[in-house]
Order: sequence, then C-alpha cells, then structure tokens
Amino acid sequence: MKGIFPIDKFRELRTPFYYYDTKVLRDTLACIKSEVAKYERFDVHYAMKANVNPKVLKIISESGLGADCVSGGEIRAAIKAKIPAHKIVFAGVGKADWEIELGLECDIFCFNVESIPELQVINELAGAQGKVANVVFRINPNVGAHTHANITTGLAENKFGISMRDMEEVIDVAQEMKNVKFVGLHFHIGSQILDMGDFTALCNRVNELQDRLEARRILVEHINVGGGLGIDYNHPNRQAIPDFKEYFRVYDEHLKLRPYQTLHFELGRSIVGQCGSLISKVLYVKKGANKQFAILDAGMTDLIRPALYQAYHKIENITSDAPIQTYDVVGPICESSDVFGKAVDLNGVKRGDLIALRSAGAYGEIMASRYNCRELPLGYASEELL
Ligand SMILES: *Cc1c(COP(=O)(O)O)cnc(C)c1O
Repeated sequence: MKGIFPIDKFRELRTPFYYYDTKVLRDTLACIKSEVAKYERFDVHYAMKANVNPKVLKIISESGLGADCVSGGEIRAAIKAKIPAHKIVFAGVGKADWEIELGLECDIFCFNVESIPELQVINELAGAQGKVANVVFRINPNVGAHTHANITTGLAENKFGISMRDMEEVIDVAQEMKNVKFVGLHFHIGSQILDMGDFTALCNRVNELQDRLEARRILVEHINVGGGLGIDYNHPNRQAIPDFKEYFRVYDEHLKLRPYQTLHFELGRSIVGQCGSLISKVLYVKKGANKQFAILDAGMTDLIRPALYQAYHKIENITSDAPIQTYDVVGPICESSDVFGKAVDLNGVKRGDLIALRSAGAYGEIMASRYNCRELPLGYASEELL
C-alpha cells in the first residue's frame, strides 16, 4: 500500500475502475451535517447527476440528505436508494411528459420549472392524476460565476431558467392554475465555484427579487440556491473536504431569509468529488520526437472532464518510487482530445504501473460512455475491498 490506496487489492481488479474512499465521503457528509445544524432552516439536497453509483448513493441516502434530480432516471435512482420522495426536487430545462408523470406519481416535493409551456404541461398532467404539484420557478439571476464557460449557467445568455423580467408574470400565470401551487424560487449559477463573492452576488440578487415580490404581496416559502461549490483539484489530500463552514456562513450572512422560509441547497461536486479516483493501468510508455507518452488503459470514455472542459485532475503513479520524469498522459481512444494531462511529472513509469486520476468522484463514472465499444468502468467502495 502506497499512501492511501490498497494496491494489492487493486492488482486483482480489472482496470480501469473507479475507487471511492468511503471514509472521505462519510467525513464530508458529517461536515455538512454539523455545519447545517448551525442554521435552523437550511436543507441540503444531493445533486444526483454528479454520481449515482449505488454504493455512493447508499451512504448519501443514509446521511439523510434529499435529492436534486434532473431526469426521470435520477428520480428512480433516488427512490431506489431510499431517499424519501418528499425530499426530492426535480429540475431540468426539458422535462419529458413521462418524467413529469413519474414525479407526480411518486409525490416528489417539487418541480423546478423553467418556462410557461412547461408549467402548462405540469398543470395538465397533475390534473389528469387529480393532484396539485408544488412548483418553484428557476430564475436566471444574470450572475456570472468565475468558472469554466461550459459550466456557468446563471447568465442571461444561458439556456437555463426564466428571466428576471418575466418572474412576476409566470407567478401570476401559476396562481391562475388549478393543479399547480407556486411555492418558491430556484437559482443555480454554475459549478466548480471557489470565489465566495459569486455566492454573495447571488444572495444580493435574491434579496432584490424578494423585495420586488413582497412589494406585490407575494410570499415565497422556499428559496433554493442550487449548488456549485468547487473542490481543490490541485490538493486532493490536503483539502479533501471543501470549506462548507464558509459556504453556509456566506448564505447566512448575505441572504435575507424570512423567518417562515426554508433555504435549500443542491450540492453535487463538493459532496462526492474528492472521494473518487479513477484507477488505470499503464499499457505502454512511448517515446515521441521531443516527449514521452504514458499510454493508459483508461480514456476519455471513462473520464471525459479533461476532454470536455479542459479540466485538471491530479495524476499519480501509485506503484512507483522511481525518480520523477515528465510524460504526456493519454488514453487509448481514437481522438486527439483523449489526453489526461500534458507534461505531467510522475514517478518513473513502466508498463503495468497503476495510475490514479484523483478527485474524480463527481461527473466521472456517470459520464462514462461506450464509445469505441469499450466496457463501462466498474466502481468499488473502499470498504468492500478491505
Ligand atoms: C448540476 C446542478 C447542481 C449541482 O452542481 P454542483 O456544481 O455539482 O454542486 C445543482 N443544481 C442544479 C440545478 C444543477 O443543474
């Protein structure tokens, strides 16, 4: 065992695979729990889209968090993991009829609605089931997040949400409908946000909108500020648990929560990001004209973030103490973007070494594809390998 990984066990497993350190996950959840306990009306939902590995979900479900789902499949996965339906919120810019029907049948807590046409369909489908659906409106707050352009969601140019200008109108429309009940507002400005000033900016915007609504005597029971808290991809060991203390404190300080309101959060990456690593085997070391390549058996089909968002994952040779050399670390897929890192310093690499791609617990396994007719990677929880 070198460092934190059970290397001997790893040798018995088919690579590549995801490895989830359940102690890190449990410690992260315990930290969230103790921070949230300081505030009376904070309620955290796990954003399912980050990772639905059943072993990971079971631990999250046992911790008592609710779920933020963005598809019918995620609603099913949440219910299967025993997350109670009354703690499920359902977001997404394009909900299909069957997904809305499933949410209604399960009696989920609410639908985060992104347009009037969607509201009309929910009203109709709820009517057909003789139900009244709780709806909250996702408002696009036009607040930028200092993160990668592909993962900002709260700018006016993004496809998400209802514009602030239309907020009162959609609420009026909802209040005329028989089978929906307007219960709150929803926001989500992006992902991998490390600048707390972005969350402060969102709070200020929410305060403004609330004042606007109160002036019209519209009261809102639930405020949902989405997720987006980032993790430290550079130092997965040193900072395994994100700064939840500061994160929740910022919302407590800046968001003017009314005494009758509940503040909801939808955290994904910050909960599961650091507990996961993608473990891969070196197939070949190849000398190029002016560099050398470490060619892994894992590729962008197993972890697409570097190819999709130029994301950085720390790469470690976990089976070598040989002197450091520099490699381009690449996968076997027939795409030039199938590169995990360029000019990466690693302990000397040879065929058969095991390589860990760290901080891969969020948007890793769940985004795996079968491109090139590859097998999907399996996922193991550390406690099952003991
Ligand atoms: C993706 C998403 C989240 C979770 O984002 P993280 O950055 O993983 O915390 C929360 N809410 C909505 C609506 C989302 O789309």
